[in-house]
Amino acid sequence: MRGAAPAAGLVAFPAAGILATIQPQLAAVPLALFVLACAVAPFIPTLGFFLPIISRGKRCDPGNPRVALTFDDGPDPAVTPALLQTLYAHGVKATFFVIGKKAAAHPDLTAAILAGGHAIGNHTHRHDPLIMFKSPAALAREIDDAQAALGRLGVRPLAFRPLAGVTNPRLGPILERSGLIAVNFNCRAADFGNRRIRHLSRRISRRLRPGAIILLHDVAPPDPADIPLLLSELRRTLCAIEAAGYAVVPLADLIGRPVMVPAYIQPQRN
Ligand SMILES: [Zn+2]
Repeated sequence: MRGAAPAAGLVAFPAAGILATIQPQLAAVPLALFVLACAVAPFIPTLGFFLPIISRGKRCDPGNPRVALTFDDGPDPAVTPALLQTLYAHGVKATFFVIGKKAAAHPDLTAAILAGGHAIGNHTHRHDPLIMFKSPAALAREIDDAQAALGRLGVRPLAFRPLAGVTNPRLGPILERSGLIAVNFNCRAADFGNRRIRHLSRRISRRLRPGAIILLHDVAPPDPADIPLLLSELRRTLCAIEAAGYAVVPLADLIGRPVMVPAYIQPQRN
């Protein structure tokens, strides 16, 4: 499976050739548009330009609108336990795109997420914000290390959440080799990893649409004094989603494919 980039190239280059026969300067127009698309596409989370990206649910019954919750960047001892309690109180199953290194450092929290019936996805091993600008080998290592760490905790993610939704042309083949799909989002509060939490629930409410994949963060704000505000905003977000008439369903149900399976333990060779 590929993104739209090859098809766009197949259109842009012949178009440039045809236009060049009319007026040579015109040939620059489709080529410039193609280059612009290549430069901008990595930063648009809903645009599958370089690789297939799932960023919303399948078309659903308008009378029964559904959304899915996803939490990035955890687990976090200051937030995850209270967040799990809130999800339990609302009877909601979410997907946690965890950082491999943090999951390995907090196996109890990872186990609690799974015990709550939630799913776990891959969000790289170290959460290096520049990873998409580094070598393909470095990117592959980040993804593989997280898969290995989560495998040791009993999980084989089938879904990968790019950091901040940013992609690049090398990501597709790396994910394909690891049996992963890219899952982004189309509803977020611009909370900058819980650095901007005031009115978070109001911002999510305004952007709710049927089939939304909602991005939230399972990480403590920089000032620990803001943790109670974060938890109350997360509770308010769940209440607001329910009050708006949306059913919160597991991400796998919303997108119609599994996002994780139990880790397969390789049999020992004699
Ligand atoms: Zn993240």
